Amino acid sequence: MTAQAKVFGVFGDPIAHSLSPVLHNAAFKALNLPYHYVPFHVPQGGLKEAVAAILALGIQGANVTIPHKEAIIPFLSTISEEAKKIGAVNTVEVSDGQLIGRNTDGPGFLMSLSEANINPAGLRVILLGAGGAARGVAVSLLNANISELRIVARSAERRRKLTDDLCALFPHIRISEPPFGKDSLDVPTLLINATPLGMHQGDPLPYPQSRIYPHFVVADLVYNPLKTPFLLVAVTVGARIVPGSGMLLHQAALSFEIFTKQKAPLEAMRTALLTALENKKG
Ligand code: NAP
Repeated sequence: MTAQAKVFGVFGDPIAHSLSPVLHNAAFKALNLPYHYVPFHVPQGGLKEAVAAILALGIQGANVTIPHKEAIIPFLSTISEEAKKIGAVNTVEVSDGQLIGRNTDGPGFLMSLSEANINPAGLRVILLGAGGAARGVAVSLLNANISELRIVARSAERRRKLTDDLCALFPHIRISEPPFGKDSLDVPTLLINATPLGMHQGDPLPYPQSRIYPHFVVADLVYNPLKTPFLLVAVTVGARIVPGSGMLLHQAALSFEIFTKQKAPLEAMRTALLTALENKKG
């Protein structure tokens, strides 16, 4: 590594499991860029100092993961409209000494749908979970003109808060939580798992198989394993599926483009991601 090398990184706690270094370093290598992407273990109490270090050490851009996506906002110069609506940041752009917070999670999810030839406009969405990822995906889907959003989550308080926040931002779209009104079974529907269920062997399904229909598109944000039990059940039913690896790939590609102002080498990043996930399995 020379003094001319540019350094990027990801802040999180824990951080060892993050696949962001694999994705970004593969992109740098593919484009022959003398850049390096480093996983930074930033414990909760150390976030303010870590953000100050971005400018102090000349770090050229950073991603942010659990548990810092919301807590980082007060330490940044400004945040994008999308990040403001979501209330979370996953990408910090460094520009003229300013730290700009952005969120590429939701747009990355939309790109994974687009890659599967799915246009969310007009779809009814059933969203499982009310955490940070659910919030990001919901804002992007509502911006993309879905017809209705139903939020299913075990914590009534978190579910209500997400529903209220989204209703205030998108008053023209029907956003509801159970109990839902009369159901029409033939409405084109996108069913999304935004809970961690499926990451561990023996996890229950996040939604009953009996309520998944062949005309559904079923997306899972869980990316390890690549084909979760939820997706395998959806295939059995005859539904189309969108694995979480697509969102992971595209949110990283969008961050890469914000950092470098260059087009991301998508196929090199995809190969690196799939290899890393395959190795994790082994
Ligand atoms: P989070 O903020 O902790 O939210 C998790 C949500 O799932 C909450 O609504 C939580 O409910 C619910 N939940 C947790 N355990 C559950 C269980 N056993 N049964 C039912 N519901 C449960 O997490 P997050 O950041 O939103 O992440 C959610 C998942 O998305 C994770 O698996 C993460 O790896 C994945 N993700 C993937 C990508 C990608 O690029 N593919 C990006 C971001 C996140 P409570 O509030 O009641 O705990």
